[in-house]
Amino acid sequence: MASVKLTDVKKVYDNHVTSVHDFNLEIKDKEFVVFVGPSGCGKSTTLRMIAGLEDITEGTIEIDGVVVNDLQPKDRDIAMVFQNYALYPHMTVYDNIAFSLRLQKMPEDTIYEKVTNAAEILGITEYLTRKPRALSGGQRQRVAIGRAMVRNSKVFLMDEPLSNLDAKLRNQMRAEIILLRQKLDTTFIYVTHDQTEAMTLGDRIVIMRDGIIEQVGTPMEVFEKPHNTFVAEFIGAPKMNMIKTELHLIDGHYYVSPFGAKIEVDGEKGQELKQARVKPGDVTLGVRPEHMLLCDQPSEATIPCKLEVNEMMGSELHLHLVTADETRLIVRVPTIELSETRRAQLTYGSELYITFTGKVMHFFNPETGKNLIYHP
Ligand code: ADP
Repeated sequence: MASVKLTDVKKVYDNHVTSVHDFNLEIKDKEFVVFVGPSGCGKSTTLRMIAGLEDITEGTIEIDGVVVNDLQPKDRDIAMVFQNYALYPHMTVYDNIAFSLRLQKMPEDTIYEKVTNAAEILGITEYLTRKPRALSGGQRQRVAIGRAMVRNSKVFLMDEPLSNLDAKLRNQMRAEIILLRQKLDTTFIYVTHDQTEAMTLGDRIVIMRDGIIEQVGTPMEVFEKPHNTFVAEFIGAPKMNMIKTELHLIDGHYYVSPFGAKIEVDGEKGQELKQARVKPGDVTLGVRPEHMLLCDQPSEATIPCKLEVNEMMGSELHLHLVTADETRLIVRVPTIELSETRRAQLTYGSELYITFTGKVMHFFNPETGKNLIYHP
């Protein structure tokens, strides 16, 4: 049980690279927080500073209200799971999990209880006598988690724990981490570059770029109210379509005019634009692929496109479209919504009409990329 607080934390490596700039974050007791962002954005560095494996150049890190800047990793009461598992190859699974407890000189019968209990939770009881080389990647990862679990640490740190696993196993282990979290009831800080992992695991997500926090929020907040184009494009797959267009205000109603179409920004979105006093003019309009609609007929509100690629994903189609001015858009269409005849028509070069409603639109400043409503 522990809260973790980072105040103005900065990391400059010896080569004068500033990897983390003024990182401020308060993680509540038992919260599951995910640091996510592209490779090199400073996620691991931040996690390693919390663990004490990396010095802090400036700022303070507190665990449960105690400043830990100068505490050794072993005195911080944290457990860490790494991407490469870091198991001892010459020891059995049992001995790997028991290792840190033996260092603490815990009695063997208590160790036995803790190791077998962790093994049961993780479903690795039958492998306790094996060496790591006789295990699959997923099983090794479970051993690494078991080793962290038995220590009953206040904070559980995980650095890309699933990135060495194949896609199927990764999905399975992701679900297991959610279950584990319910059983352990402790504070988790998890690093990944994978937005799906971040969205499915995190109570809150910290989206980073170039050592800076771009946004902190719940998965729904960052998905529905991205503060800028970076967050908007990073969260969600395939990524959000970005369209350069104009916002018009006619008789108190907002409209956009993408590729010559005229679409009203009605309902709540229109109200939000009004409340934020957004001025008409050039905007970057963001619309997610799943929010674009395929129309049978052209109208004032449709955008004519040509189909370039039709990716059949099973339950949905990903249509790669190109507009008259060569802008590329992606549209996700649930397969079930299309008749077989219609599906057969969706071939290279076919002419299609798409539209979207005001409800699903995102508006960004074309120069700064900032969200005009949520982060002006
Ligand atoms: P991430 O985990 O997001 O991939 P890192 O925290 O590993 O990013 O790295 C952030 C930045 O710090 C990168 O530019 C990386 O090259 C740099 N960096 C990481 N470790 C070191 C180091 N030991 N010495 C110098 N620069 C480093």
